[in-house]
Amino acid sequence: MQNKLLLIILDGVPHRNFRRLFGNLEGWVQSVEARVWTHRAVLPSISASCYASIHTGVSPQVHGCTGNGNVFRLGHPDIFSQVRAANGVTGAVSHSFWSEFFNRHPFDYVRDIEYDEPDSDTINHGRFHSMTGYGHDNQMTPSDVDLFATLTNLCLRFGLNYGLLHTCTLDSMGHRFFHDCSQMDHACAVMDEMLAPFIPKWRAAGYEVIVTADHGQDARGHHGGHDPLQQESALYYFGPADGPPEGTVIDQLQIAPTVLSRLGAPIPETMKATPFLT
Ligand SMILES: [Zn+2]
Repeated sequence: MQNKLLLIILDGVPHRNFRRLFGNLEGWVQSVEARVWTHRAVLPSISASCYASIHTGVSPQVHGCTGNGNVFRLGHPDIFSQVRAANGVTGAVSHSFWSEFFNRHPFDYVRDIEYDEPDSDTINHGRFHSMTGYGHDNQMTPSDVDLFATLTNLCLRFGLNYGLLHTCTLDSMGHRFFHDCSQMDHACAVMDEMLAPFIPKWRAAGYEVIVTADHGQDARGHHGGHDPLQQESALYYFGPADGPPEGTVIDQLQIAPTVLSRLGAPIPETMKATPFLT
């Protein structure tokens, strides 16, 4: 496999926060280095259900993850398994749910916190955090710059073809402070500024880059239901492919087959949605 792509999932960022507050991403849209579309999450618009749909390309009604309390090793092929089937190298820097869904369940804190498994059928290089103890007053999230650096480290050391990064910082901030407040303005600006220096480095290393969220959040910081604020996020793409017209709404189930098509990996029959990049 020659192609390379990084999927950056910033958990719980509603469309309006991306478009209002991420000045670096929006600047690259203005300078035509990036494209942006609306991205609509599956239902329920709950994190675990969305992670499973983003990576398998099938709905929660098909993969069976009905929420954060129902995490298990999924049965459907996903981006990791398909990249491996095409002899690509995979990596993940993310919440431990991603390891449980796509590699091993239950999560073993010692065995699974960090692994390098070149022969794995799914995730070759994993760096995880569980956020155990997470709640309103204690986010239990790592610094995002550490996560971006860890992903870059894996790319440089192991030549990842596909890398996933997922961070819950902004989802936790939204649940805690909601959205019409200085805390959220600042948190989004910090995320945008921390992420920005990495994007040109990843591009220079040959990676296409997608930045998006798993779902949005409404004014009370809620998500899970059928409300545009809860379901809709933005999706930014850096790379040479053509995409749909501005204003197009990308269905969450399109992400997995799109990533596989960009990497030149086989798209399994279970992924029925049409790739949005050509
Ligand atoms: Zn989420």
